[in-house]
Amino acid sequence: MENSVSQDLFGKACKIIPGGVNSPVRACRSVGCDPVFIVKGEGASVFDADGNEYIDFVCSWGPMILGHAHPSTVAALGEAAKAGTSFGAPTPSEIDLAAMVVEAVPSIEKVRFVNSGTEATMSAVRLARGYTGRNVVVKFDGCYHGHADSFLVKAGSGVLTLGIPGSPGVPEDIVKNTISIPYNNEEILEKTLRDENLDIACVIIEPVAGNMGCVIPRDGFLKKLRELTRELGIVLIFDEVITGFRLSYGGAQEYFDVIPDLTCLGKIIGGGLPVGAYGGRAEIMNYIAPDGPVYQAGTLSGNPLAMAAGRATLELLQRPGFYGELEEKSAGFAEKLMDVAEKTGMEVRLNRVGSLMTSFFTANDVFDFESAMKADTERYACHYRQMLSRGIYLAPSQFEVAFISAAQSKNDLDKAVKMTEWSFKKLLEK
Ligand code: PMP
Repeated sequence: MENSVSQDLFGKACKIIPGGVNSPVRACRSVGCDPVFIVKGEGASVFDADGNEYIDFVCSWGPMILGHAHPSTVAALGEAAKAGTSFGAPTPSEIDLAAMVVEAVPSIEKVRFVNSGTEATMSAVRLARGYTGRNVVVKFDGCYHGHADSFLVKAGSGVLTLGIPGSPGVPEDIVKNTISIPYNNEEILEKTLRDENLDIACVIIEPVAGNMGCVIPRDGFLKKLRELTRELGIVLIFDEVITGFRLSYGGAQEYFDVIPDLTCLGKIIGGGLPVGAYGGRAEIMNYIAPDGPVYQAGTLSGNPLAMAAGRATLELLQRPGFYGELEEKSAGFAEKLMDVAEKTGMEVRLNRVGSLMTSFFTANDVFDFESAMKADTERYACHYRQMLSRGIYLAPSQFEVAFISAAQSKNDLDKAVKMTEWSFKKLLEK
């Protein structure tokens, strides 16, 4: 596959952008190749600067649940842009999207829009601290909640892929207030939350972890977390930046029927534009300025283009049968992938919930950070390069999820299955 234009662009980018990228995983270091530069997306496909077409399983890391350049989103953006791109003042479009979010997400009575998932989680934790008057944040090993200081402790995603154990530049004074415990371990969870020496303000969790690869909560784990936090007056925050409007219209909280106090959103609610949101019970949200003392602000927050793209996206997700069809398609795809693994003799563990899935190259169950780390990352790197060479665009790390979109046809998924079979066979020849 020709990639000289991408190579040239990467060379230029590296001179003026750190690592040539604006977010570390994109540099593809853990899969041992240089990135391709994307110039266009259309439906299920992305096209690189050399003109190669790929079936896209990254979907901008989640937002593109409808595929790329959906006509409704493009039209809504065009309309909004004509009326001006930013005012830094209240606009009716914010109320439209806020009303949709409040109606959809069970835990949310009031919502505040921000510009990224990182801002959403950072602000939600500040609010939880302000509300409870306590300091400590409990998170789970391998969960990623953006790049704010408090979260860079045993975090997933790019932090994990690059093997950075936190990050220089994060003061110890800050992370001493963050406790990270294993995912899916009720015993350690209960012991930690009941520890009277800890001044716990909140627990933040990805209700399905997506940033150490797809890790699914065990039966009862989220319910136990809800019971304990309620009993102990600890604020429970669901980071639904990935799962919101993805697992169901009401997100993971609706899917698992466990309702947190606060919810963080991002990705899908912006239809591919930079957006985030946090919301929850009015009683807690009323602590935010200007109604309350907890400060949080943003020049571009509630940006009319982002609101318009978000609204156009959510409207399409309301179509009856949307999530059922996505589930059916994803289940069929996962089944075929497992058949390929069996047929070729490849050791693979496939974790899937709805349209989120990861095939881990390991023979063991993957249920937390430690078990995820047993996956064979060298093998994944090779698989990634092989799939890319055959027009399948996967996440450039073993510890990410594959996103299925409504735009992927049966043919697209069948092609991915066929290429997976080819790639697995080739890996096993080595
Ligand atoms: N939370 C989760 C669960 C995420 O997956 C991400 C990003 N992938 C974030 C927060 C941070 O969002 P952003 O990259 O928009 O800052």
